[in-house]
Amino acid sequence: MSRLSVFLGALHFGPPAPPTPMPHVIAEPCIATKDASCVEVCPVDCIHPTKGEGSFAGATQLYIDPATCIDCGLCVDECPVRAIFPQDDLPEEWKKYIQINADHYTK
Ligand code: SF4
Ligand code: SF4
Repeated sequence: MSRLSVFLGALHFGPPAPPTPMPHVIAEPCIATKDASCVEVCPVDCIHPTKGEGSFAGATQLYIDPATCIDCGLCVDECPVRAIFPQDDLPEEWKKYIQINADHYTK
């Protein structure tokens, strides 16, 4: 294949699309644990409520803001009960937590 055809092909198809962000989600094991270890490592402060917020004591669990999460994965190994998953890796029975996490930031 000539350089010209490679160049023209690149013009036709354009560069590959960037990967779609896949926010992380906090699921059921957080309930009753809620130790906030994940909050400490999140570089963009997208896990709430934090222990410093008034709503922490009454919160059922912590939640990840899908609009802010940069999908770095740092929080996953911090969780002592393995409650955090990339959205696409959530076990089927916990898929509802995608909406539960998002709702915390929209209601
Ligand atoms: S994946 Fe990264 S950005 Fe998203 S909640 Fe976890 S630590 Fe924060
Ligand atoms: S580290 Fe796990 S259990 Fe602790 S608050 Fe975060 S998600 Fe919940």
